Amino acid sequence: MKIGVPKETAANERRVALVPDTVGRLVKAGLEVAVEQGAGAAAAFPDDAYRSAGAGLVGTPADVFGSDVVLKVQAPSTAEVALCREGAALVAVFQPAAERDIVASLAARKVTAFSLALLPRITRAQPMDVLSSQATVAGYKAVLLAATTAGRLFPMLVTAAGTLPPARVLVLGAGVAGLQAIATARRLGAVVSAFDVRPAVKEQVESLGAKFLQLEIGEQAEAAGGYAKQLSEETHRRELAFIAQHVKDTDVVITTAAIPGKRAPILITADAVRGMKPGAVIVDLAAETGGNCEVTEPGTEVRLAGVVVLGPLNLPSTLPLHASQMYAKNISSFLLHVTRDGTLVVDFDDEIIRETCVTHAGEVRKT
Ligand code: NAD
Repeated sequence: MKIGVPKETAANERRVALVPDTVGRLVKAGLEVAVEQGAGAAAAFPDDAYRSAGAGLVGTPADVFGSDVVLKVQAPSTAEVALCREGAALVAVFQPAAERDIVASLAARKVTAFSLALLPRITRAQPMDVLSSQATVAGYKAVLLAATTAGRLFPMLVTAAGTLPPARVLVLGAGVAGLQAIATARRLGAVVSAFDVRPAVKEQVESLGAKFLQLEIGEQAEAAGGYAKQLSEETHRRELAFIAQHVKDTDVVITTAAIPGKRAPILITADAVRGMKPGAVIVDLAAETGGNCEVTEPGTEVRLAGVVVLGPLNLPSTLPLHASQMYAKNISSFLLHVTRDGTLVVDFDDEIIRETCVTHAGEVRKT
C-alpha cells in the first residue's frame, strides 16, 4: 500500500502531515511512503531526512495524489481532488459543512475521505486526537502572542528600579487550549484565573495553580462527550455581566470557548472591552468560528479604547515543527487503525471509522 504526503498548498500553512520519524515507523510496518519534494521544508524537515527514513521523494503533486492513501493537514483543493485516484483514500482535518463543494467532488471521485475533525473524543481515539494536539500548540502560542503584544512583563520583579507586579491573566474556556494557556501563563510568572461553564474543569484549573472563577450556572452546561452546551439566553446574560466585572482589572484575556457545530459564544462585549484597562490585550482563539469577543476581526488586530484584540488564525501552523510532529503521530495512528495487512479496512461498525468517514463509495456520509 502506497501512502502519499503532498506539500500543503493552503495559504499560510506550514505544517506537513508526516514527519521523517513517523515515515520511518510506517515503512517498518510494511507501507510504502511517497513524499512530495519540499513537503516538510516549511516545518524544518528537509527532503534528505525523509529519504533517510525510507520515503520515496517525488517531484510533482500528481505522483503523491495517485497514492492509495493521501495524508494531508488541510482539506484538499478542487485541483487536488481531481488528482486523486478513484477508490483511493484521503485523511485530513476539515468540517464537511464548510467544504461542501470539496466533499461533493471527493464523493464523485469515489474517494474514501476521512476528517479527523470529526474524531470522537473517546479514550481509544486519544492517540489520533489532532484537535487536542493542535489545541495544545494554539493555547501555548496564544500566551506568547499576548506576552509580546502587552507593554508589560508577566512575572513579578523586585528590582532597584522598583517593584513590578505580576501580570493578571484570565483564561475563558478551560478545554485543551485553555488549560495549556493557563500552564504557559503560569510558567511566565503571571497570576492566572480561569472560567468555564463546565464545573468539572475547576479541579484541573486549580491543579495548574490558577484560580477558578465560580458562577452559579443553574443549568446543565455539559453535553455528551464532555463538550459544552449553548447556554439559555438568561444564563448567557448573567455570564456576560460576570465576565465584564472580571476583565476590568485584567491585563491579558485569552478566550478559547467553543461549542461543537455552532458559532463560538460571545463572552466579551464591546462595552466590556471599553471597561478594560488601556494596554490590556485580548487573544481570541475562537476567531475562526466567529470569535468570543464582540470586536474580534479574524486574522487582524483591533484596537478599542486602548485595548488590543487579536484574532489569530491557524496558530498551530506558526509552530510547524512540533505541531507537525504531533499531527504526524495522530494521523499515523489513525492510518494504522484503518489498515490491516497493507489494505484499507472501512468497517462502519467501528465508531472511529463511522464518525470520521465523510465520503465512501461515491456517497456523502457527513454533511
Ligand atoms: P472546545 O474546544 O469544544 O471548547 C473549549 C472550552 O470552552 C470548553 O472547555 C468548553 O466548556 C468551554 N466553553 C464553551 N462555552 C462556554 C461559555 N459560554 N463560557 C465559558 N466557557 C465555555 O473543548 P475541547 O478543548 O475540545 O474539550 C472538550 C471536551 O473534550 C473536554 O471535556 C475535554 O476534557 C474532552 N476531551 C476528551 C478527550 C478524550 O479522549 N477523552 C480528549 C480531548 C478532550
